[in-house]
Amino acid sequence: MTLDTTETRTRSADLFQQSCNVLVGGVNSPVRAGRAVGCDPVFVERADGAYLIDVDGHQYVDLVGSWGPAIVGHAHPKVVQAVQSAAANGLSYGACCESEVRLGELILSALPSMERIRLVNSGTEATMSAIRLARAATGRSHVVKFLGCYHGHVDALLVAAGSGAATFGEPDSAGVPAAYAELTLLAPYNDPAAVEALMSEHGSDVAAILVEPIAGNMGFVPPGEGFLSTLRTLCDKHGALLVFDEVMTGFRTAWGGYQNVCGITPDLTCLGKVIGGGMPVAAYGGSRSLMEQVSPLGPTYQAGTLSGNPVAMAAGIATLEICRENGFYENLASKSRRLTSGLQAAADAVGVALQTGHQGGLLGMALSPRPVRNFDDAKACDHDAFAQFYRAMLDRGVWLPPSGYEAMFVSIAHDDDAIDRAIDAAKASFEVIAP
Ligand SMILES: *Cc1c(COP(=O)(O)O)cnc(C)c1O
Repeated sequence: MTLDTTETRTRSADLFQQSCNVLVGGVNSPVRAGRAVGCDPVFVERADGAYLIDVDGHQYVDLVGSWGPAIVGHAHPKVVQAVQSAAANGLSYGACCESEVRLGELILSALPSMERIRLVNSGTEATMSAIRLARAATGRSHVVKFLGCYHGHVDALLVAAGSGAATFGEPDSAGVPAAYAELTLLAPYNDPAAVEALMSEHGSDVAAILVEPIAGNMGFVPPGEGFLSTLRTLCDKHGALLVFDEVMTGFRTAWGGYQNVCGITPDLTCLGKVIGGGMPVAAYGGSRSLMEQVSPLGPTYQAGTLSGNPVAMAAGIATLEICRENGFYENLASKSRRLTSGLQAAADAVGVALQTGHQGGLLGMALSPRPVRNFDDAKACDHDAFAQFYRAMLDRGVWLPPSGYEAMFVSIAHDDDAIDRAIDAAKASFEVIAP
């Protein structure tokens, strides 16, 4: 069955036109504009479980899940109920409330590396604050980041490749002063020797090495054997802090985060996405002695008007309580396995070179004949073919991330029927790009 929805997405087309007269580029976050896949945005009317329903009435199997937060499925009754009853008591107090303590406890119980936590409103805020704290705690200015890792739109972290090798960074966005970007040192992902060389030259200036323990913003790129442990060793040797940006991987790849899977303990952890269950919640935390350097106990300032508001806390608590149920992550991983093996078989059947991988409810597909281990590999994938595949899938009722540089997400609400619908659509869509 093929359902070409292009011509029937008329209300979306109309809304996008209106939106372009109001919002910059018609969107509030750039990837939604669909430029990488040559496709105007589809406007969502509502979401339910594993599905999105657009304003023209089409239903899609959602493999984005709001970029991760929707891990228990959209509009889960327990989450909706928790948010509604919290809202009835006021949306935000700008003062302490019990639910902040409860969400913090849930998170700390899952992550032994975090003894104290600060809740914030976005992943960007979490990484920005973690770096400020690392700089304060070490009295150093530089940070090491990896090519192709995304940590939000923090000035010093919007830095990508210079000329490929590990060099001082060049800003990746207008408006980032070169003086900031110069404080960011770059290394290729999955290249322990490059980090070692970088640290032996600049180690005494480095406040932190910041890393996505599974890189999820250049597809799905797991750490190779020894990569994360080398970072741990190098940080210890040079007196730098190891910061795991688990904004994507936290509570998505495992209860707690990927640090519980890989067994490497960071000094600071950033969380976001899942911990708000769809509301704007993020966090950073670490040992008590480090975190006590944050205001009001220490000299590192950081604050937030809406931080810890009771409605967002309620969504986070309800979501994590479901995640904590026995077998949740095994169940989630089995869904990822069913989907990736179905996609792989569908691609193999028509001779499309595909790489797949998954951890918990995070998965990836890359149109590449070789495994993707770093940003160069990610750039070498067939992004034109992905754009075609994306449009073919959308027309067949599957909502993919609108870029070949993004990971995919499943929820506990993705039953066999939803996954098999996605696989059936992929069978037809791989044919469109088959050699
Ligand atoms: C999404 C993401 C961020 C940024 O989070 P926002 O809430 O969008 O600011 C930071 N780091 C990683 C690894 C992410 O995936």
